[in-house]
Amino acid sequence: MNDISVIIPIYNEESNLDELYNRLEKSVLKVSSNYEILFINDGSIDNSLEKIKEFAGKNKNVRYLSFSRNFGHQIAISAGIDKCSGDTVIIIDGDLQDPPELIPDLYKKHKEGYNVVYAKRKTRKGENLFKKITAKFFYRILSKITSVNIPLDTGDFRLIDDKILKSLKLMPEKHKFIRGQISWLGFKQTFIEYDRDSRKHGETKFTYRKMMNFAIDGITSFSAFPLKIVTFLGFIVSLFSLIVILYAIYSRFILDRVITGWTSLIISTMFIGGVQLLSIGIIGEYISRINNEVKNRPLYIVEEDNIDMKL
Ligand code: UDP
Ligand code: MG
Repeated sequence: MNDISVIIPIYNEESNLDELYNRLEKSVLKVSSNYEILFINDGSIDNSLEKIKEFAGKNKNVRYLSFSRNFGHQIAISAGIDKCSGDTVIIIDGDLQDPPELIPDLYKKHKEGYNVVYAKRKTRKGENLFKKITAKFFYRILSKITSVNIPLDTGDFRLIDDKILKSLKLMPEKHKFIRGQISWLGFKQTFIEYDRDSRKHGETKFTYRKMMNFAIDGITSFSAFPLKIVTFLGFIVSLFSLIVILYAIYSRFILDRVITGWTSLIISTMFIGGVQLLSIGIIGEYISRINNEVKNRPLYIVEEDNIDMKL
């Protein structure tokens, strides 16, 4: 058993890895010499894996797990959670946006009796306006429509203890939204604040599509609000239709007007069509997630690792 494990998802970060490793090792040694640095190589196509193996060759505390392809950031972290051997776990990004120097501070706070210490971004540098705005918007909406209190302006950079670790392993969902799951668990959670740097080298690995999927996972995993909106819309539209139907009957039989109302006809057809498509889409998002759960495929496939090597 290690005192502390550091989990780092890595997807094409070769230009950051040397600095990351050096800074991490220095920082984590301040906490304990009985540590583990666990790299999860999420199907990198650059030299990341070779670099990681190099570190593992010279430091027996470095362990790695390499996926057979790119499975995604949240899944990489989940694999780390499955395989780490530490009592206390740090989750950190591999692009140096999360400064490793914060680890002793996270640990100190944990020693005051907290099960989760997350790092909250005071500022975020080097991210484009679109990302900042969408992120801000998303987390605020999410906190409005979910019953869990997911902290604003935090990523996955945090410390979790053995209790959280054990409980996380009991959550078998396939669509991971780890920061939400951790909030959902409860226990004693707190935060420290920091200024988020820009990524050292390379570009963000989060395409807009990945961001979008991540956002939908977050919402569907923790809220039925979109479904409630659908129900509400259905209700309102039906009510409105009823009025229009009554008017149509009235106008046919009482006013004896037969061929009028092309405009209202086209508007109502388009409107109801739009609402239906939107609703089916939202329901579809939930169903596709149920489908994935039912398929019950493994979350990731490991191609190689050095996890079982004796420390
Ligand atoms: N990452 C990963 N798999 C992916 C995308 C990203 O393991 O499919 C890793 C990436 O190497 C980095 C961390 O997740 O260590 C955060 O990614 P990134 O910095 O690109 O995200 P951003 O900070 O732009 O949200
Ligand atoms: Mg980043």
